[in-house]
Amino acid sequence: MAADIRIVPCLTDNFGYLIHDRSSGATASIDAPEAAPLIAALEKEGWKLTDILVTHHHGDHVGGIAELKKKYHCRVVAPHDANAKIADADLRVEEGDVVKVGGLSARVLETPGHTLDHISYVFDDDRALFAADTLFSIGCGRVFEGTYPMMWESLLKLRALPDDYKLYCGHEYTASNVKFALTIEPDNAALQARAKQVEQQRGAGQPTIPVTLGEEKQANVFLRADVPAVAAAIGFAGESAADVFGEIRERKNNS
Ligand SMILES: [Zn+2]
Repeated sequence: MAADIRIVPCLTDNFGYLIHDRSSGATASIDAPEAAPLIAALEKEGWKLTDILVTHHHGDHVGGIAELKKKYHCRVVAPHDANAKIADADLRVEEGDVVKVGGLSARVLETPGHTLDHISYVFDDDRALFAADTLFSIGCGRVFEGTYPMMWESLLKLRALPDDYKLYCGHEYTASNVKFALTIEPDNAALQARAKQVEQQRGAGQPTIPVTLGEEKQANVFLRADVPAVAAAIGFAGESAADVFGEIRERKNNS
């Protein structure tokens, strides 16, 4: 593996991430929730920030960009966005674009729903998916700007990635997501196993990330809206997967 990945907790429950290419020395931050913890992590490793790969325009993902850019003169890669809501962007990317971080390559997937500009970065060679606020472990982002069918399509796009890819998401929400998911699928063995693991991880003060996509496909109810038993569990047997997804998301909003 050419890439080193570090998890950098930021703000209250955001995950910052650094991905470092040993051969070239290039280092990217995935989003920039907060400058200080990212700078501390970079200094600890002796890495210099070369790129910031932005997933969407929310303040808790872009708040640290200005300070980091001033300090490191790094390149800011941001979603293609007609409204240009992300300041300091040097490069705008869209579906299918490939972003180089030294010798590393990130493929851009448009995953709208949480916001309309939301993109995810897939480092295929390193089996890593940075999905920010589209896909959480055992959860998904709130659908603020898009529609439920749009968000469901975005989740399907991520679900199509191989099982051994690791998910790095935008927030440490896993424990509350597990609690909610068990109200829909109390008998899901993969979810029960994840619940135990999350309890141990949180008890030990460890992050619940990363997790493999294979595990998420089995345990994350938001990726399972097209499973007949899930539809039946919420009284939506025979309804479309997008409608089942929308109902589950509504219930989570109100939980
Ligand atoms: Zn967000």
